[in-house]
Amino acid sequence: MPVNNEQLVGEIKRLKQEREALILSHYYQLSEVQDIADFIGDSLELSRRAASTPAKVLVFCGVHFMAETAAILSPGKIVLIPDLEAGCPLAAMVTAPDVQEMKKRLPGAAVICYVNTTAAVKAESDVVCTSANAAQVVKSLPPGQKVLFVPDKNLGYHAARQNPDREFVFWEGYCHVHDRISAEDIITARQANPAAMVVAHPECRPEVVDLADETASTSGILRYARENPARDFIIVTEQGLLHQLRKENPGKSFNLASPALVCPEMKKITLEKVLRCLVTLGPRVEVPSPVRERAVRAVERMLNIS
Ligand code: SF4
Repeated sequence: MPVNNEQLVGEIKRLKQEREALILSHYYQLSEVQDIADFIGDSLELSRRAASTPAKVLVFCGVHFMAETAAILSPGKIVLIPDLEAGCPLAAMVTAPDVQEMKKRLPGAAVICYVNTTAAVKAESDVVCTSANAAQVVKSLPPGQKVLFVPDKNLGYHAARQNPDREFVFWEGYCHVHDRISAEDIITARQANPAAMVVAHPECRPEVVDLADETASTSGILRYARENPARDFIIVTEQGLLHQLRKENPGKSFNLASPALVCPEMKKITLEKVLRCLVTLGPRVEVPSPVRERAVRAVERMLNIS
């Protein structure tokens, strides 16, 4: 077994070629994991790449629902996750029976589920959305149709603000990483750096979003930082995004609004685990056909919108 990072990276690269595998990494991964990836992106970009690549083996460096979404869109490919225990607590906040029960209570409502859900929840939903396209997905529904938005209430509020004529029912889920940031955290960060632009992820609470100069998904934050002439930015999303922000913008300064913006689940993936899964071709993420066939409809409906 390699003993240092250089040896690990060398062995990962060698085995990746041997296995004809593609390594995909989410922006919230450890820097060294992002650096060995063939492609880095948000959950939607990664799933699209997973579906379009000719590679037959995909190593998905992220949390479980992301690998599952790749498996939904890529039947026939081997989807590996370096640590099966890396799960998203937000995705665990709503289950398929929860959605079935809500559908009985809200007949005629369209169910929009955030991509941060299990395949079984996607199978119960009409359409999937991401943090980049939630408002757009709502707008695509017939006028007057009520919306059940699961599971992230903060993203739901954000989409609802851009669709004020629509009636919403929100599931009471939240991302514990983004939701723990308070308005006071933003005020304190701004006082320390008054010239900085504040950019928040829509999983943050509405009062935090209100204090930000811009609200955007991870890929949207990268775009904003690239295009905005400001030199200083206060970032209100998970710490891992700083790695790409700094790489892409060497002359600019990026600081987190709070040191609490770290997702321990995302940090479970290590170089050692990436290597082990290339050696063993496991653990695999598979979605049973009946669930996949229903879930893929909701995912493809979103892909046709955005
Ligand atoms: S940052 Fe939040 S939404 Fe993303 S994986 Fe962690 S808990 Fe889930």
